[in-house]
Amino acid sequence: MKHDDFAAQLDAYGDGELMGNEAREMERHLRECAACARAHERQRVLRATMRAQLPALTAPRELRSRVRLALRAAAGVTPARPRPEWRWLAAAAVLVGIVVGTWKITDSRDAANAVVDEVLASHVRALMGTHLTDVASTDQHTVKPWFNGRLDFSPPVYDFAGLGYPLIGGRLDYVAGGPVAALAYGRRQHVIDVFLWPTQRGSTGGPPAVTRQGYHMLHWSAPDYTYWVVSDLGVTELGEFSRLLRQADSTAAR
Ligand SMILES: [Zn+2]
Repeated sequence: MKHDDFAAQLDAYGDGELMGNEAREMERHLRECAACARAHERQRVLRATMRAQLPALTAPRELRSRVRLALRAAAGVTPARPRPEWRWLAAAAVLVGIVVGTWKITDSRDAANAVVDEVLASHVRALMGTHLTDVASTDQHTVKPWFNGRLDFSPPVYDFAGLGYPLIGGRLDYVAGGPVAALAYGRRQHVIDVFLWPTQRGSTGGPPAVTRQGYHMLHWSAPDYTYWVVSDLGVTELGEFSRLLRQADSTAAR
């Protein structure tokens, strides 16, 4: 490879996208070529500055790929063009524009993402540890009163044992900045965690269905309660369970 080829790959290298031999050859070239070393250093400083000025941003995947496309387009992949670092600077300006433009979207998406993370983390913690339930009972008339005095609301607790989703128990948890009720239901060897809190606390937003690390999460807000349901159960059965929950809720509300 010649200088021009290396120069054209500098931003890919800076993004950590060169692997193995390519990365080693680039490192060797940077030691030998003052022009590329300077360009690389300018890019590094610019990246660091942008990171420092945009601390709260964790770019969602589609934003990252848009940015990457913009950078690629602006940097140009034709090796013969001179001074690729100027095109990189232009691309950085494009990036700042995109970032500012999507700031608000990203902001609310981050809030919803935070709830998804909390719900999932709590579910996994409960499964791995010994703390799946504070009150272990298949009887809704034992589980529901247990929350009295422990929460400022009285969560609806149902038993779907006859439909193949027996109640396991309940526990206190903390999600979206407040105490919430967590109810555990079973389905064969799977555990379904149901997190709920009064809808009047404000919507957490977020997509109605998320799959992460092999866990499925369903989310909806009823007039009274906001629900997050999480399990490694198949999405069809989890959907069926959620429909039972919604039905029971709307029947109880009448
Ligand atoms: Zn060079």
